[in-house]
Amino acid sequence: MKVVRTIHDLREHPRDGTVGLVPTMGAFHEGHRALFGAARGENDLVVASLFVNPAQFGANEDLAAYPRDEERDVRVAEETGVDVLFVPDANELYPSGFQTWVEVEDLGSRLEGEHRPGHFRGVATICLKLFNIARPDRAYFGQKDAQQVAVVKRMVRDLDLEVQIRVVPTVRDADGLALSSRNAYLSPEERELALTLPRALATKDAAQARARLNGLDVDYVEVADFEPRVLAAAVRVGKTRLIDNVILEVPCQASAWLGRDQNKEPV
Ligand code: AMP
Repeated sequence: MKVVRTIHDLREHPRDGTVGLVPTMGAFHEGHRALFGAARGENDLVVASLFVNPAQFGANEDLAAYPRDEERDVRVAEETGVDVLFVPDANELYPSGFQTWVEVEDLGSRLEGEHRPGHFRGVATICLKLFNIARPDRAYFGQKDAQQVAVVKRMVRDLDLEVQIRVVPTVRDADGLALSSRNAYLSPEERELALTLPRALATKDAAQARARLNGLDVDYVEVADFEPRVLAAAVRVGKTRLIDNVILEVPCQASAWLGRDQNKEPV
């Protein structure tokens, strides 16, 4: 596996056949591995990016504390079949004078967007930049971040990008907690409390989920009309903010239609 740090070196890397891109912020876990595996399964070249994108963090969020372990991430990526790991620094992607942003207006302002103003502007912009730099045929995202998937798919359609968006199911620990780099912040007691989130969502009913989460610091619990529809929630456990969602039933007619759209095809 090759580690590259500049846009120039990534563009110069030999490419023969299809390219799969997996954008990440590092601190790899089994969720990231599932994305790498999916990309490995259907592309000739697998490129993963490791970049803790400052533009998607709010002023009072955990940018400085976000877990970073590049050495371990390099090992995990290599083991999981990544060919090129792109690890730029912030100046490489946001040089001085940077001032162009992508705003997915409605989808990006609800739920997560309401509680994290500017978050999806940062996400959409970095994804578009990574798509332009790596020029992938397919890009891989986790269902864990369902709204991110919806925002990226919308941007791909609205801006006529030629990348297929692949969505990989949420990987969970045995106890049901969705894997997340931020789980590393949780104390054992907080982790136990955090299990309320997947248990509440497993009801697949907004009112029941809300009742189960009663007493926790809840940002939202809502049915979101993404494709597919999900019950999504965000809660704070101590200082850690966790998000999760479950897919609600896809009506038969809709699933037949979903299957025809390359950007809605499940992996
Ligand atoms: P992150 O490094 O947290 O930005 O995540 C990089 C990619 O991995 C995103 O597309 C996430 O949706 C995906 N991802 C994160 N956690 C999981 C998980 N538990 N299961 C599946 N995909 C995940």
